[in-house]
Amino acid sequence: MDNLGIGHLLKEVTMQPPLLKYSKPKLGNHRKRSKLGEGEMELAKVFHMNGGTGDASYAKNSLLQQKGILMTKKITDEAITALYRSHSPETICIADIGCSSGPNTFLGVTGLIKTIHQECKSNGHQSPEFHVFLNDLPSNDFNSVFRSLPAFHEDLKKQNMGGEGFDPPSCFVAGVAGSFYNRIFPSKSLHFVLSSNSLHWLSQVPDGIENNNGNIYATNTSPPNLLKAYYEQYERDFVIFLKYRSDELVKGGRMVLTMAGRKNEERSFNEGSRYLLEPLVRALKDMVAEVNPGINRRRESEFIQYCCILPMSCRSNVYS
Ligand code: SAH
Repeated sequence: MDNLGIGHLLKEVTMQPPLLKYSKPKLGNHRKRSKLGEGEMELAKVFHMNGGTGDASYAKNSLLQQKGILMTKKITDEAITALYRSHSPETICIADIGCSSGPNTFLGVTGLIKTIHQECKSNGHQSPEFHVFLNDLPSNDFNSVFRSLPAFHEDLKKQNMGGEGFDPPSCFVAGVAGSFYNRIFPSKSLHFVLSSNSLHWLSQVPDGIENNNGNIYATNTSPPNLLKAYYEQYERDFVIFLKYRSDELVKGGRMVLTMAGRKNEERSFNEGSRYLLEPLVRALKDMVAEVNPGINRRRESEFIQYCCILPMSCRSNVYS
């Protein structure tokens, strides 16, 4: 598509909200950051998926992610069953971390409740109570999430969770706004942590990546320092994530994390991802040029660096 084409397309696209909203950051800010916390604060304030249920909402554009959640259902079911057998808590506390809004927000949790309820029924026990915490960044569309609560409860009832002398499980849901790169729950308060399609979001755009040859993400033409910067940022973030969750989980609690990954050791995005990302790069550059005519390359790339990584490995692991 030529520039004229992209310009035209952008006018149309900017009439509708993009899938992921990103407010303009202050230029050069990330280079001044000295502590991880400052950059993270910036991103936590500006990033969120597009709320509501319109055509461009996350709710209407998350089928691929849904497929990922369904693919890992067996692992998740095994993990919650093992947790229940070993702990048998009266109330199971479950957190879905990076829950967003839309059908996927309740998909994983519904599966967990159903699995435990079946397990209890087959042993002739009444289900435990469930305390479900839905976490995302403060600007997530929690209004939509809360509005779908009656449908969620209705769905639990419809799935024949009561019947045969068993009451349907009691489930209490709360929203928790905050970055998962911080402590967001009290110590030893969770039995089970679920997170799908969220951990590739870094806490901040890594420092020192201005020389990315006009790219906005780690690709084959990116310099080695850039690949290293993304990789190291991911490592730091993931360690922080694990540390805080290990504080929040009870002893023997479980955690299932699902994220997109790569099968090989190549650190950059693969061919398939590039087909998706290249048009995005061109559209973003066009937008930046529109608001800042004559902007130079380095400042342009400061605007549009992508805060996302595909970690190596596409297997899902259960942590306990
Ligand atoms: N779990 C859902 C949504 C995934 S979209 C699904 O599988 O479909 C990723 C979500 O992670 C977004 O809603 C985004 O706002 C959230 N997210 C990204 N970084 C986050 C952070 N640091 N803390 C909390 N949520 C975050």
